Amino acid sequence: MAQVAPSTTIKLQNFHNVSADAIRHCKIIGTLGPSSSDEKTLRELILAGLNIARLNFSHGEYDVHKKNIEMVRRISAETGYPVAILQDLQGPKIRCGKLIDGGINIKRGETYTLVFGVEQTDPKIIPIDYRDLVKDVAVGQRVMMDDGNFILRIDAIKGDNVIVRVEDGGYLKPRKGVNFPDAKLSLPAMTDKDSRDLLFGIQNNVDYVALSFVQGPEDVYGIKKMIKAMGSDIPVIAKIEKLPAIETIDEIAIAADGLMVARGDLGVEGDVERVPGFQRLILAAGARHAKPVIVATQMLESMIENPQATLAEVADVANGVLDGADCVMLSGEVASGKYPVECVKTMVNIISEVEHWTFKRPDRFSDVAFDPKKTWEDHEAIARAACEAADSLNAKAIVALTLTGSIARSIAKWRPKTPVIAISPRPEVANRMSLIWGVYGMQNPLFYNTDELLQQLPELLKKLGLVVSGDTIVITAGIPINQVRPTNMVKIDRIP
Ligand code: PEP
Repeated sequence: MAQVAPSTTIKLQNFHNVSADAIRHCKIIGTLGPSSSDEKTLRELILAGLNIARLNFSHGEYDVHKKNIEMVRRISAETGYPVAILQDLQGPKIRCGKLIDGGINIKRGETYTLVFGVEQTDPKIIPIDYRDLVKDVAVGQRVMMDDGNFILRIDAIKGDNVIVRVEDGGYLKPRKGVNFPDAKLSLPAMTDKDSRDLLFGIQNNVDYVALSFVQGPEDVYGIKKMIKAMGSDIPVIAKIEKLPAIETIDEIAIAADGLMVARGDLGVEGDVERVPGFQRLILAAGARHAKPVIVATQMLESMIENPQATLAEVADVANGVLDGADCVMLSGEVASGKYPVECVKTMVNIISEVEHWTFKRPDRFSDVAFDPKKTWEDHEAIARAACEAADSLNAKAIVALTLTGSIARSIAKWRPKTPVIAISPRPEVANRMSLIWGVYGMQNPLFYNTDELLQQLPELLKKLGLVVSGDTIVITAGIPINQVRPTNMVKIDRIP
């Protein structure tokens, strides 16, 4: 019989020494930037628990992104810690243009004219890089500038000019973001830059792509079509940061492979007070459709400058975990802050504490309601059965043999305390698992020799140090595997 050897090994700290509920389930995303793109820091971040490296395509040149991709792949292979790469496309972000003297002080009560353009020629005219401005906005609507720090209101529209009055002003710097929260904009979902960046991402084998400013499911179907035309099946995360997206959240969750609560822009577009409610609503949609959800932005903001998080930030991360986030995300904290590694360690500690406490409760982590009247699909019933078996038997792992990773997502939907090891013949599928709650990916090229893999699985997991003699594992697979069947089997195994 051929020896089933792992081509990649996974490392989960103390996996075999601790109970399953001590394995961290919620994953951590960190945005790479000047503070985290050197070899030493990146290695420390990965060893500290970073699961996904985010490349923000609003900044940075291709050679920098390329260097970062290569470095993540190399350190991940050297350390054995799986790390996925998430490419975040800039999207159609509207900005003001270049300003005279490097900035202007816009004062409350003053009026200004907004026009389509890239460079300021008159101190009372602010250029905006959005061609259809006058067509899409209306009198009385708000205009927010500099991530919502300044509020202006439209007084009149005359020809190509939009006259605005400042309600809350300040010092406006060039190229700052401009939002029109009350308008439905006829923006393309993807700019030319996004299309070029997407091709770069696919050519460099990123694991996920995030689409910014999604307004509806058609935006997601649009990028998926492009991805297919580029010969790829890379999964798409829909960034929810505009109000129209909230209205069609179920359709977007069905269309996309995951959602991001992009709280920064969502707060600007929809008032900060409403963001915690939106967060729950988006997380619930992700749970309904078994799609992972990322909670992003300002999670440990004060740690950009300070080595310790505030109590409010700790509570915010804890509440994201309690609400059922698959991932919590760090942006400026890791990209340009003074304490990137401490930020990841802080998140690990918060998540571990919350999960430890939550798994002690009899009710399930997720608030996905079990609906006995629903007509279940096979994979859903199998996923739930595997979770029930594993948790009630105190199993060490649920091992999902999966071609696409979709059964692993179905299992994660039920939030078992037992960690999931997803074994796929496709290395990219194994890598994608880094983003899914409680799932750890592993590639195995002998996946198609089902009988051998099933027989040798206990030995293989033992060799990897993931289980010891006497441990229980629960296996799901679609057999016969060489016929590429959907998952149709649950097996309970004891490690000899
Ligand atoms: C956000 O707005 O919260 C977000 C994550 O998007 P970006 O960082 O691209 O602005």
